[in-house]
Amino acid sequence: MKISTFDTTLRDGTQGESISYSVDDKLLIAQKLDELGIDYIEGGWPGSNPKDKDFFARAKDLKLNHSKLTAFGATRFAKNPVHEDRNVLALVEAGTPVVSIFGKTWDLHVHRALGISLDENLTLISDTVTYLKQHGKEVVYDAEHFFDGYTANPDYALRTLEAAQKAGASVLCLCDTNGGTITGRLVEIVSEVRRRFDGVIGIHTHNDSDLAVANSIAAVEAGVSHVQGCMNGYGERCGNANLASIIANLEIKLGHTTIGPEKLAGLSAVCRFIAELANLPLRNDQPFVGKSAFAHKGGVHVAAVLKDSATYEHIKPELVGNRQRVLVSDLSGRGNITYKLKQHGLAERLPEEARRELLERIKQMEYEGYELEAAEGTFELLVREALHPGMHFFDVESYEVATRAAGNGPSHSTATVTVKALDGVHTATANGHGPFHALHICLRQCLSRLYPQIGEVRLTDYKVRVLDSQGTAAKVRVLIEWSDHRRSWTTVGVSDNVIEASWKALVDAIRLELMRLTETDASLEKAVEDYCWGV
Ligand SMILES: [Zn+2]
Repeated sequence: MKISTFDTTLRDGTQGESISYSVDDKLLIAQKLDELGIDYIEGGWPGSNPKDKDFFARAKDLKLNHSKLTAFGATRFAKNPVHEDRNVLALVEAGTPVVSIFGKTWDLHVHRALGISLDENLTLISDTVTYLKQHGKEVVYDAEHFFDGYTANPDYALRTLEAAQKAGASVLCLCDTNGGTITGRLVEIVSEVRRRFDGVIGIHTHNDSDLAVANSIAAVEAGVSHVQGCMNGYGERCGNANLASIIANLEIKLGHTTIGPEKLAGLSAVCRFIAELANLPLRNDQPFVGKSAFAHKGGVHVAAVLKDSATYEHIKPELVGNRQRVLVSDLSGRGNITYKLKQHGLAERLPEEARRELLERIKQMEYEGYELEAAEGTFELLVREALHPGMHFFDVESYEVATRAAGNGPSHSTATVTVKALDGVHTATANGHGPFHALHICLRQCLSRLYPQIGEVRLTDYKVRVLDSQGTAAKVRVLIEWSDHRRSWTTVGVSDNVIEASWKALVDAIRLELMRLTETDASLEKAVEDYCWGV
């Protein structure tokens, strides 16, 4: 069955505490949602703020191939005739083919929030929907607080829906605005509405009880054919129903059509894109689309997944554009190592005994606080060292670094590094923007004559985490991300001295680059063979 998808990432989603999109961001997101095949994109509330008004003005130039842009607003104010209500006029001016308007369902809200009679509220709903229909709009009617309203006064709640439908609303959308409805109760109420009304019934849930996705799916099973939600579950308080999870479940588990299997493969990328523009990391454990959604760590699981992925995966990750990952950690069995070796094209080259030793080394390092899951560069270096046990490239003889500052003035860092390389002993002294920068410059200077290629290695991210809480004497883990224009990798260092931890990560990054160049650079390989010591 076709279930229409209504995305409100750009309206309800922006009510999330840490979410703020510029108008440009919103336009880009609308374009992505269109490419994904979402049926309705609710862009904002033109009557409520100038940013949303601006969005709709600029959205007129958007080339949407599939989605219908939707403007959101409320029923008219009680004191205004509908054709003079500024909010309703702004909805017409927004120029969208669809308008969604919310009205009051709960008698408590009618009395307390609006301060009008129950009949007057029905007139507000009917007037507003009729006016928008007269202006050629498709109207989605959002019955605010529907489930709470129904529980308080079922007859009245149903009369509000009747008023909207009679006036011409195409969709009656039942909203669990406070997110407090338990699934069983929600299904009872949806079923009752389904029994009494023809036409399209919709569902709009919030996640305050951590049930928003489950409630949306259950509502579909009870006869709803229009689902509203936000990508990544963004939204006020605990968020809206996560539309990405709803779509994946409806398509893969229940065999409904939402965006179709082909577009479904673009789901993870769209979720990442939206998170990127929200300037929030996409949660690793986000179902279907998160980085860890199909990641395996325990050795038993990995061994089974390598034989048949269905043993520990509920769907094929590729269906939603995600991928399987195998993590290396102290829980690893040999399966993880085998998987990783295959990934690096090294599986056949490492003998059984060397593989076992490598696993023991990794377990020891993880015990000491290294985090190889997040530092694939360090893992790759360990593997390559296991393959070429004699290949050192260089030995560090000594390093020192000092930082000085006068009073509150700027600090200056100077480092000195001495390295024994294949062509002799080199010492370099340099100033840097900080102690680590100064050390990096020195190491490069020491090695650049023999290995000019390492000049391309640059730092792109630096993270430090305290591993145990002993104040300033605590052990720290430093994760550094590097890039050489062709690829990026992360190395890790652990120490109770942040400079030493950073230095270890730096030296490993350079060693790895040299190891890799040896694999591809015949002349470098020859140089290493000729001069290699310690074999
Ligand atoms: Zn909402």
